[in-house]
Amino acid sequence: MKTETDKTNKPETKKNNNSNNSYYGFLWAILIILFLNGMIFPLFNQKRIVGTDYGSFIAKVEQGQVTRATIKNGQIYFVAIDSTQKPTTYQTGEIHDPDLVNRLLEAESPNPDGKIAFNEIVPQENSPILNFLLLWVLPGLIFFLIWKQATKSIQSRMGSGGNFMSFGGSGAKIYAESDIKTNFSDVAGQDEAKEALSEIVDFLHNPDKYTKIGASLPKGALLVGPPGTGKTLIARAVAGEAKVPFFAISGSEFVQMFVGMGAAKVRDLFKQANQKAPCIIFIDEIDAIGKKRDTGFGSNDEREQTLNQLLTEMDGFDGRKGVVILAATNRPESLDKALLRPGRFDRRIQMELPDLEGRKAILKVHLGKIKHDNINLDIVAQATAGSSGAELANIVNEAALRAVRMGRQQVTTADLEESVETVIAGAQKKNKILSPEEKKIVSYHEIGHALVAAMQTHSAPVHKITIIPRTSGALGYTMQVDEGEQMLLSKENLFNRIATLTGGRSAEEIIFHTVTTGASNDIEQATRLARAMVTRFGMSEKYDMMGLETLDNAYLGGDTSLACSADTAADIDREVLRIIKEAHEKAREIIRQNMDIMHEAANFLIEKETITGEEFMQIVRKAPTPRP
Ligand code: ADP
Ligand code: ZN
Ligand code: MG
Repeated sequence: MKTETDKTNKPETKKNNNSNNSYYGFLWAILIILFLNGMIFPLFNQKRIVGTDYGSFIAKVEQGQVTRATIKNGQIYFVAIDSTQKPTTYQTGEIHDPDLVNRLLEAESPNPDGKIAFNEIVPQENSPILNFLLLWVLPGLIFFLIWKQATKSIQSRMGSGGNFMSFGGSGAKIYAESDIKTNFSDVAGQDEAKEALSEIVDFLHNPDKYTKIGASLPKGALLVGPPGTGKTLIARAVAGEAKVPFFAISGSEFVQMFVGMGAAKVRDLFKQANQKAPCIIFIDEIDAIGKKRDTGFGSNDEREQTLNQLLTEMDGFDGRKGVVILAATNRPESLDKALLRPGRFDRRIQMELPDLEGRKAILKVHLGKIKHDNINLDIVAQATAGSSGAELANIVNEAALRAVRMGRQQVTTADLEESVETVIAGAQKKNKILSPEEKKIVSYHEIGHALVAAMQTHSAPVHKITIIPRTSGALGYTMQVDEGEQMLLSKENLFNRIATLTGGRSAEEIIFHTVTTGASNDIEQATRLARAMVTRFGMSEKYDMMGLETLDNAYLGGDTSLACSADTAADIDREVLRIIKEAHEKAREIIRQNMDIMHEAANFLIEKETITGEEFMQIVRKAPTPRP
């Protein structure tokens, strides 16, 4: 059985390519000059006029190589064909030679009529000045105009709060983006966060309202929450709503190879932001630089310098000017205390995983972007408890892809349900075929989970059971869906959940008198739950309300570290084992008492490979067996 998925944090990549406008202009101009010269030079080369002496002129005439001749401005121009048959235009001075005309008339010529053509216009050589103008000044002018245009458009963009601009004495570029299209309506749910941030938007819109009273806005707000809950999204939305430039930079970008560069970058960032005020600076994944400073070994000089610079800059600038700093992190507990004190990131905006209504709203936002027929949002939202906004966005996209694969024009509820399973349990592994024996074991295993769940009062109803192998490795799974959202889990809830997890293995034991590897995921989950009951939730008699473990990364999977003596640790293990054994025994008991349901439902599953919660419950209801 598999009910939980790893939440992976997708790295956000952002590319800014528009920085090098002037370089491109320059390159273009060079290219144009080369191109023009390439075009023009051959033209001139062809008509190049070669100076020669009168003697060779006469010689060429007599050898019958001359095709044309003309006299102009005291110069004789003539075209002669040499041994390679290439016509060349020559020029020579005119010498008093009364016989010349006759000589030309009599001479042979390569022309078809055998005569030298007279007085044809010999192409005029461009004056050197014109040459110079054409070859160098004109392209230069073109280049200059292009360059001028480029700088003008960059300037005008900067003036109008432009799309992109680049700067940075640290050699690293920082970009201000304006004209952001994202706004609050793109962020579904998260009403508390939106409310907290709309004050910032209001301040950026009309600062007078606040400054009149003497109020200054909190300089920074820290967005905190698990990955994929829309922190980056909402920061952009603030900029979009306030219609101010948006400087986005990721914490890791500050950490440079060379010591001191990160600090320089922070300085640059604030300098530029001050000039562009009102504006928003957004530092994503701030934990990359904002980690607690420590003195021990392995401290990171560069990171600390960068952090110190950030602290200094945040103190140094005037909150009334309208520079608002937003930062996001999913590891708030690792941040340096100095970052969180008043005057710095003193506002903390919590972005939680969406609840049922939130999930519906997020699905609606993302479904708005695709074609779909009437979708039953409730079903999908109920089946996705614990999913983040990013996962929901992914589910909708997977559904759209599936619709395309099926050759349909619209996304249906079935597409969404299937893609929920794909995202939770992995894609169906079509070519993996279970042997009949395996199929039987997997079926009984899954029905074991479902039956134990169904027979207990405090557990979520079964939604669907399948025995189609998934790419994640699960051979089958039982999907349980809570109808409402459960905020508080009682000791009974947790215990029943553990019992349900042991139900699969219990069925194997009772029906086949053997155990398989199929329960490994169940074992992992059951142990984790039982452990948390003892160490963190105070749900064991023995340790009462003593905290034995602390949660380190609440938003990133939740690693824990023990906070007790080694003796106690060993005893915790015994306590955990006791709980699991008790739950396992309960599951076995339930299955033993409901064997006819087991067989009927398992046979149904073996035959159909999928059984819905409703079908399963019908089998359960009509069974006359006594229930515990
Ligand atoms: P984070 O920065 O918290 O890790 P992102 O803001 O990068 O998460 O969210 C990733 C994507 O998930 C967003 O681009 C958006 O498509 C989707 N998403 C997350 N939360 C929401 C939400 N509340 N409403 C709508 N879409 C969301
Ligand atoms: Zn299982
Ligand atoms: Mg993010």
